[in-house]
Amino acid sequence: MIAVEEALALVLENSFPLKESEILPINQCINRNLAKAIKAPIDLPSFRLSSMDGYALCLHQSNTYSIVDEVKAGDAANPSLRIGECVRIYTGAVVPDNADAVIMQEKTIRNQDTVTIEGPVNKGQNIRLVGSQVKKGDFPLEKGQVLQASGLAFLKSLGIDEVEVVRLPKVTIVITGNELITSSEKLTRGKIYESNSILLQAALLNQGIKTQLISFTEDSLKETISNLKKAFFYSDIVLVSGGISVGDYDFVKQALKELEVKEVFYKVRQRPGKPLFFGKKDRVFIFALPGNPASTLSCFYVYVLPLINRLKGGKSDGLIRLSIPIEHDFKSVEPRALFLKATVQNKTVRILDRQHSSMLVSFTMANALVYIPQQGILLKKGALVETLLLPNSILT
Ligand code: AMP
Ligand code: MG
Repeated sequence: MIAVEEALALVLENSFPLKESEILPINQCINRNLAKAIKAPIDLPSFRLSSMDGYALCLHQSNTYSIVDEVKAGDAANPSLRIGECVRIYTGAVVPDNADAVIMQEKTIRNQDTVTIEGPVNKGQNIRLVGSQVKKGDFPLEKGQVLQASGLAFLKSLGIDEVEVVRLPKVTIVITGNELITSSEKLTRGKIYESNSILLQAALLNQGIKTQLISFTEDSLKETISNLKKAFFYSDIVLVSGGISVGDYDFVKQALKELEVKEVFYKVRQRPGKPLFFGKKDRVFIFALPGNPASTLSCFYVYVLPLINRLKGGKSDGLIRLSIPIEHDFKSVEPRALFLKATVQNKTVRILDRQHSSMLVSFTMANALVYIPQQGILLKKGALVETLLLPNSILT
């Protein structure tokens, strides 16, 4: 059994960006990581433009200017101004070459063909210079950078329509358990509705990954081996659910051994998710996740997510970690590190009830996991605790 930090370090040590990349249209690149740095093909902005609705002035001593023309956003005109003249101008319009500054409309008084300005005007005021955001030839986006809405729009603003991104990892899921049935079956004695397949598929979809294949496996060594073999063929990552503990009908560990999967670690000093397994078979990563649903998801967020991020070409070590004051006293008598479902609100964190690894209900309300590394500890209200923000963590 190893410590949480050790396990996480081993996952990161074994993670590297996938070598293959693909060129995709921008609209298919949300959440994808750049395979190469982006070189700006143009200056941004590419012309001097007004950041206000107002008047573009060719400066002189007096506060009154004669209005000689008008430039709207999108116009190509470049009216020539003499000293003391101005043009009516609007946000986003080209500033005439011989205008020195733009004064905002709210600081002017208009009289027919002249305008009087209030207060001083500085040269260059309210004019966005060519290349002031990005210069042609600069590299504003780095290799590995993840593209969000802002990144996609920024690329579009540079006139870029497609980019090279690291390919997504192929992930398959192997669900084990004789007790599992689907919701279309009749709930009979001893059976439960299976939920880890949607849990993992949805968590993967949040990362932009469509599961390649899901198999459902009886608790038998033969079937487990056969389904794992199939999964290895299609995957960069295989996620196994259940069957990794020490019961007589837990066959995953033995199956992995017979398939010559190299164990990186097995069992982590944590709750939930103690019997977590991580290993490799050639280029395929295997996580065997304990089957209790809250363990499965907790292990996914803490260990699988960093691997996915790195394979996708990103640099992230996983969920964002913050030190946040706890809203109440908390006592742990556990001899293991804890990951506790929690809510962050008003700059404090509250640990939720119903933490058992079989209980998803607290996860449905959580936007964070509190990590308590110490064994057996009393935390006073206001103490800072390490808090991992769940993906898309907002409170609804
Ligand atoms: P295991 O890790 O196979 O020992 O399973 C631990 C607990 O999680 C048992 O109570 C299982 O019934 C439950 N469990 C395992 N797999 C799933 C699943 N796919 N969906 C819902 N519950 C599961
Ligand atoms: Mg089982």
